[in-house]
Amino acid sequence: MHVLVINAGSSSLKAAVIDAATGERLTELTADLPAGSSDHRTKMHPFMLQLREKVRGISLSGVGHRVVHGGADFDGAVRLNEAVEEKIEALSDLAPLHNPVHLAAIRLARELWPDLAHFAAFDTAFHHSLPRRAQTYALPRDLIREYDIRRYGFHGLSHRYVAGRAATFLRDDYRNLRLISCHLGNGCSVTAIEFGRSIETSMGMTPLEGLVMGTRSGDLDPGIPAYLHRKTGLEPHEIDKLLNRESGLAGLSGAGHDMRHILEQSTAGDPDCQLALQVFTHRLRKYIGAYAAVMGGVDAIIFTGGIGENSSIVRHRAAQRLDYLGAVIDEDKNHSAQLTVTEDVVDFSRSHSRVKLLAIRTDEQLAIARDCAKLLRNEDEVNTLPSIPIAVSARHCHLTRETLDQLYGPGYELTVKKWLSQPGQFAAEETVTVVGPRNRIERVRILGPLRSVDQIEISRTDEFFLGVDAPVRESGKVENTPGCQLLGPQGSVDLEDGLICAWRHIHMTPTDAERFGVQDRDTVEVTVNDAERGLTFGNVLIRVSPDYKLEMHIDTDEGNAAEIDSGDAGVLQATGQRGTLRRRATMAT
Ligand code: ADP
Repeated sequence: MHVLVINAGSSSLKAAVIDAATGERLTELTADLPAGSSDHRTKMHPFMLQLREKVRGISLSGVGHRVVHGGADFDGAVRLNEAVEEKIEALSDLAPLHNPVHLAAIRLARELWPDLAHFAAFDTAFHHSLPRRAQTYALPRDLIREYDIRRYGFHGLSHRYVAGRAATFLRDDYRNLRLISCHLGNGCSVTAIEFGRSIETSMGMTPLEGLVMGTRSGDLDPGIPAYLHRKTGLEPHEIDKLLNRESGLAGLSGAGHDMRHILEQSTAGDPDCQLALQVFTHRLRKYIGAYAAVMGGVDAIIFTGGIGENSSIVRHRAAQRLDYLGAVIDEDKNHSAQLTVTEDVVDFSRSHSRVKLLAIRTDEQLAIARDCAKLLRNEDEVNTLPSIPIAVSARHCHLTRETLDQLYGPGYELTVKKWLSQPGQFAAEETVTVVGPRNRIERVRILGPLRSVDQIEISRTDEFFLGVDAPVRESGKVENTPGCQLLGPQGSVDLEDGLICAWRHIHMTPTDAERFGVQDRDTVEVTVNDAERGLTFGNVLIRVSPDYKLEMHIDTDEGNAAEIDSGDAGVLQATGQRGTLRRRATMAT
C-alpha cells in the first residue's frame, strides 16, 4: 500500500510516498517555504502542485497528514472529513503555530487529490493514556475546565514508533516493557512508556515545556514570565516569542540552535556553548531519573531524533553513571554507533547491563503511513458486530494456594457461591479483610480458582479509603504495586505487592477478536451510545483467550459514574488506536 505522507510546517513542507509494508520511499519532496506575510495556502500552493507532478504515475492508496495537536478529541489517526477538519481548526487556539498550517495543507491536498482517502495522524494521540495525575496542572479547577488546560504531550508518533522498534529489537512485546524514550531533535521530549502506554511525558499543554530545545527554554519557574514583564515591559506575545524562538540552546550559547555547532564550539573552549550543553544534558538526566521513579524501574532507555541518533557525546552525558538504575553504558559501542536505514537500532549498553541503552532511528512518516494503511484496510468492514455485555466488577481478590492456606488453614478448599460468566471462574463463599495504612475493607470476595500470584482488585474510591496508591494495571501485572495485609479466620498474610485498580477490559475469544479486528492487549475506545449520555470509555484493554466469553468489565466507580449496571449490553462499531485498529463500541443499554 503506497501512502503519500505530508508534513506541513510554517517554514517547510516535507512529503514522501511510502510503502507502508516495507517503509521504502518511492519519492520524496522537501521544500522551504518563503518567509513573509502571505497566507499558508498561497505559500504552499506551488509546492503542492510540484508534489502532484512528482507523484503522478504512482498508484496511491491514501494521503496521511501529520497534525501536531489533536487535543482531547483524537486518540489515534482518523479519516479526514469536514467534521474532523472543524475540530482541528478549533484546536488552533492550543497550537496556533501548527494546526492552521496543517489545515491549509489538508484542504489543498484534498482539492488536489479529491478521489483519495485523507487521514490525520496526531502527535498528541499516543499520550491519551496519560493518567489524570500526570495530565493535571495544579491550577484552579474551574480555570482548567474552562480552558482545557492540561498536559497533552507531543512527539507521540516518534515515541510510539521507537518503542515498537525497541521491543522488536529486544524480541519482546512492548506491552511487557517499561521504556524511557528521549526524542532529541529541534524539539525535545522524554516519555515514560509503561507496558505500552504513555504514562508521563515532558512536553505539556504546548510543546514548550520540559527539556531544553533548539530555541525553546523548556521548564522554567512559572514566575519568570511575569517578572520579565515587570522588569522589561515585554508583552505576553513577546515573552512567548522569547521562550519559543530565542531561548534554549540558541539563547544560552549565542551561537545558534544547531547542536553540531554547539558541540564543536564547546570542544573548542567556548564557555557559553559548554554551559548550553551542560544545561541540556543535565535536564535530560533529571527527567530520566524522574521517569524511572515514576515507573519504579525501566527496561530500556531510547535515544532518538537528530541529536539522540547522532550525538554520542550527548548520549554519554545523559547515560553515564546510571548504574544505580541498572544501566551501564559501553563507551566504545556508544562512540562507534552509526545508525542507518538498515541498522536502525544500536544497543550501546554493556552486555551485563540490565537496562538496555538504545539509539534508534525514528521514522514518523512511516508511522503515519502505517496508521493510514491500517485504517484503509479496516474501512471496508461492515458493522455487523455482536453486542457486548457489560459487567461491573466489585472489589475482589485472587489468591495463591499459599496465601489461602495461611488465611483459612492448610489445604482449605474454596466453596463456590456463584459461577461467573467467564468459564471456570467463580465467586467463593469466602472473603478476606484487606488492611491498608488508613482503613480496612471487610468481606472482600475471593474469586476462584486459585492463581500463581496474589492480586487484589479495588476501585479508585477504595484506594483512597485504604490509603494506598494503586496503579491501573491489567490482571497479572503486579510488579511495583503496593502491598497490604490480608486477614482470614485462621491467620493473616502481609503481601509485599498485589493491589491494583483493574484496567477496564473486554474479554473475548480469538474468533471474536477476528470479527472485531483487534488483537490481545490492544486498547480500544468504547462509546455508550445512549442518546441521553453519549459516554465514551477510552483505553479499554482487549483480552483474548479461547477460555473467555465476550464481556466488558468495568469497576464499580466507573459503573456508578456511567450509571451502568451489570446486565447492560453493547455493540462494537469501527476504528483503531495502537494495536491493529481502534474500535468504537456502542453500548446499547
Ligand atoms: P526535527 O526535530 O526538526 O525533526 P531533527 O530530529 O532532524 O529535527 O534534529 C535536528 C537536530 O539534530 C539539530 O539540533 C542538529 O544539530 C542535530 N544533529 C543532527 N546531526 C547531528 C550530529 N551528528 N551530532 C549532533 N547533533 C546533530
